[in-house]
Amino acid sequence: VHIPVSLGTRSYGIHVGPGLISEAGKLLKPFAKGPVPIVTDSNVAFLHLDRFIGVLQDEGIEVHPIVLDAGEGTKSFAWLEKLIGQLLAAGVDRGGLIVALGGGVIGDLTGFAAGILKRGIAFAQIPTTLLSQVDSSVGGKTAINVPEGKNLVGVFHQPSIVIADTDVLGTLPRRELLAGYAEVVKTAALGNADYFSWLEKNAVQALNGEPEAIVRAVAEACKMKAGIVARDERESGERALLNLGHTFGHALETATGFSGRLLHGEGVSIGMALAFQLSVKLGLCPAADCERLIAHLKMVGMPSAISDIPGERPSPEVLIAAMAHDKKVKDGKLIFVLARRIGETFVTGDVPVDAVREVLEV
Ligand code: NAD
Ligand code: ZN
Repeated sequence: VHIPVSLGTRSYGIHVGPGLISEAGKLLKPFAKGPVPIVTDSNVAFLHLDRFIGVLQDEGIEVHPIVLDAGEGTKSFAWLEKLIGQLLAAGVDRGGLIVALGGGVIGDLTGFAAGILKRGIAFAQIPTTLLSQVDSSVGGKTAINVPEGKNLVGVFHQPSIVIADTDVLGTLPRRELLAGYAEVVKTAALGNADYFSWLEKNAVQALNGEPEAIVRAVAEACKMKAGIVARDERESGERALLNLGHTFGHALETATGFSGRLLHGEGVSIGMALAFQLSVKLGLCPAADCERLIAHLKMVGMPSAISDIPGERPSPEVLIAAMAHDKKVKDGKLIFVLARRIGETFVTGDVPVDAVREVLEV
């Protein structure tokens, strides 16, 4: 499946399909002038790097693999500096190409490095996690974390091409797969009721790696996100809908200390359930839609309540304080994406804190 992202001169294509890595050489060849650094992490390198290198070399592309540590800690200034040193050592030029082969960590860090090195070098995203295939590889946001917060330092830098091979998801741990699936559900719930209904019928097959189902699930999410990004690249409006579940989700991540106790997608999964519960409490959304969302999350084995988080339960006060520190605060007001029903959502800064507290207490 080929999905165009229409951004004028910065337009590009997202390719989604089973076994696409074997075609990556041909797809990347037109962009690959000079030596091509391939940035990846140790897990992905172990599983997929050799074959990927082979496919590029078959097209006569000169490759320079750069293997970084796996994990969120790699999205830091220290690793950015190291990476830039290695990119320069590889001899990459203004007209060249940098390839990011990995999940959102590798994509965000490599995209940022490509965006600032020599004032911007083209880069390709080869996302290898479900989260990165449906979310982080699409849309051109790049960033690293600083002690003050996640993703606070970055640039918009659109990739030149995205190649999502759904077969590589076969090696992804189930927990990571489900965490990525939260962003799939989010995309459907925020604006496409038909897609949500399709997921209700096909999620199990998709998550079990049945090619037709997983390709459609990924492609549909990419299409939705690409459309939103094309209409609102810099998040001045509609793009903010992609934060459905994220005000609550980030607060849960913060309160659990980014410790691996709660993956980002798990926070989003619980956060979506809370956002729908808040919408019901405010009389905006029928209870049946909220129940339907939560039933789907539970059916595939995703967490949907704060009590699903292992360990000590974060208190409403701690969570509200975390939200107040989030990027999603404007003029001192908490910003939420709320629902009118499944497939119809809107952004609001007008939510009474008491209602938020009540939802966090359940
Ligand atoms: P990740 O990159 O850390 O990958 C998760 C784990 O899976 C890692 O241990 C990785 O080594 C491993 N892995 C990757 N591919 C694999 C494969 N095919 N088989 C086996 N293991 C594999 O995390 P992620 O969930 O992909 O991405 C999370 C990051 O994405 C966060 O930093 C988040 O801030 C960022 N993000 C960015 C955007 C954006 O718009 N730029 C959007 C959403 C999330
Ligand atoms: Zn997210």
